[in-house]
Amino acid sequence: MTDDQGFATRAIHAGQEADPATGAVVPPIYQVSTYKQDGVGGLRGGWEYSRSGNPTRAALEAALAAVEGGAAGFAFSSGLAAEDTLLRAVLRPGDHVIVPNDAYGGTYRLVARVFGPWGIEHTPVDLSNPDAVLDAIQPGRTKLVWVETPTNPLLGIADIAAIAAHARAAGALLAVDNTFATPYLQQPIALGADVVVHSTTKYIGGHSDVVGGALVVADGAQLPVGLEGPTGTTNVRDAVAFHQNSSGAVAGPFDAWLTLRGLRTLAVRMDRHLANAAAVAEFLEQWAGVTQVLYPGLESHPGHEVAARQMRGFGGMVSFRTGSADSAVAVCGATQLFTLAESLGGVESLIEHPARMTHGSVAGTALEVPDDLVRLSVGIEDVDDLVADLAQALDAAGVGR
Ligand code: PLP
Repeated sequence: MTDDQGFATRAIHAGQEADPATGAVVPPIYQVSTYKQDGVGGLRGGWEYSRSGNPTRAALEAALAAVEGGAAGFAFSSGLAAEDTLLRAVLRPGDHVIVPNDAYGGTYRLVARVFGPWGIEHTPVDLSNPDAVLDAIQPGRTKLVWVETPTNPLLGIADIAAIAAHARAAGALLAVDNTFATPYLQQPIALGADVVVHSTTKYIGGHSDVVGGALVVADGAQLPVGLEGPTGTTNVRDAVAFHQNSSGAVAGPFDAWLTLRGLRTLAVRMDRHLANAAAVAEFLEQWAGVTQVLYPGLESHPGHEVAARQMRGFGGMVSFRTGSADSAVAVCGATQLFTLAESLGGVESLIEHPARMTHGSVAGTALEVPDDLVRLSVGIEDVDDLVADLAQALDAAGVGR
């Protein structure tokens, strides 16, 4: 592999050389916990124990690093396990974190309710305004700025390069949750991020059959000023590797294999997801009873220009408002092709009511979402069928045309 190869080439080949023992053209599932040693300490290829390292997981980690343009990838058992590991690796009690005021609810719950009691303070900030980050930075205390763009579920857009400059000036790390955009559509490390976070459960896995997470660390990323890592170095990469092994929330071999299989087709799936999502968003904009459509590809979206600058395409997620909680819930119950379910990013279309489903955990906080909001994960089915399904559901729910 070379750095100048295109995205799809890297997704299909990086870390995925034919198996040296058999010539198998895809990395086998090394469903194994431990490895025979040729005499004490005589490791074959460095493999010792599968929490510390497993060849299937290593293939996924190498491929993830290659597609994000990072120095090292780390695969976890869920997106939140990846986030948890990163927060432990780069923060200490007394530190302060900036989080998006419309972050994924689980991220907010982790920061506020798990790390809060361990002495980490946080400030929710509207990241669509980069200067709001400046105002929220507490000099010497703010060690991490957490960006999600587009956000879940309001599809807010943050200017990664502008926020990276503010974080760097403050001596804080910048982590970007790239789950919604995927590395195909957005390259946060090239825009200045130190770490990229993924729920690989979503588009990278792509088939709603595996839960997983990942971190990709930028080349040379250093721990926040003043923090020495557990291995005596100040590299984020070393600290994350230490914590991944020490806490152990790693991706299992079969999950890693499924995720890698998904990654190989990410580019072609995303092209179809975003074409379908654009058509669905335009259809919803014409529907009189739909009071707002949130899709960064629409010129009406306040983050459209920034998204057009930093993304190759606008993604497969569309949210819209129906004017009342009852009608939003009714639409969610009336679709036939869109399956009523949490999660997103699979080939099949999903619909959900964030206030009562994915974002129920942030009710009553600064991150509460409107109760008339409906979120769509637009799949790769025939788009005419998707539009027809939404039309009949809006009619059935009494959302006027
Ligand atoms: N980040 C975002 C943007 C998400 O949407 C999710 C899950 O929905 C997560 C992180 C957490 O990932 P997981 O559910 O794999 O733990």
